[in-house]
Amino acid sequence: MEGSIKEHIKTFTDELGENIDLVAVSKTKPNEDLLEAYKAGQRIFGENKVQEMTDKWDALPKDIKWHMVGHVQTNKVKYMAPYVDLIHAVQNMKLLKEINKRAVENDRVIDCLLQVKIAEEESKYGMSPEDLKLFLKDDKLAELKNVRLKGLMAMATFTEDEEQIHREFKILETLYKETSQTQKDFSILSMGMSGDYKIAMQHDTNMVRIGSSIFGAR
Ligand SMILES: *Cc1c(COP(=O)(O)O)cnc(C)c1O
Repeated sequence: MEGSIKEHIKTFTDELGENIDLVAVSKTKPNEDLLEAYKAGQRIFGENKVQEMTDKWDALPKDIKWHMVGHVQTNKVKYMAPYVDLIHAVQNMKLLKEINKRAVENDRVIDCLLQVKIAEEESKYGMSPEDLKLFLKDDKLAELKNVRLKGLMAMATFTEDEEQIHREFKILETLYKETSQTQKDFSILSMGMSGDYKIAMQHDTNMVRIGSSIFGAR
């Protein structure tokens, strides 16, 4: 890939503008690469393994915001609870309760997104749109005072078919607009990765998660 990490950060920052947050997805990449992005002004980093994220958090500057973008096992929540800034992929009450419990222990409120399954592909995680609406009506949510639901996240199918990606992002865009009417804390729509962020921008994303186009192939 052409250009340095620093150049890629600048290019993305310019292209995305002020209204779209850039999560630099640094999974599998060494600390030197993250530091290069950091020196170019990047402050939000995304990881998908709790252990790796915790090691990086230990070693790197403390003003970095760490986003967990991957699937989270309940028994790993405690390791990131002291510092994680945003958990993108919550998809059931059991996980949300555990995050709440660990947030209480750390005397903080942890921001979370709910992952929605929009992909026609079977392999992707998340709640169906119908389940999301039921989930948001669950009375148990009000008891979880140490988590804050900030919005929605999804992944589109990995395909060359742009019409399909448009269709899938449109589902999330509509769902976000609907649910935002009743969810007072909703302000984040996390959609778009290296291969499809331009399409996500046409569907009002306000947070993109970019890995390989910044740091190179994994
Ligand atoms: C790895 C990953 C990304 C970044 O993917 P790229 O194609 O490298 O930009 C974004 N979101 C999630 C959930 C990921 O796991």
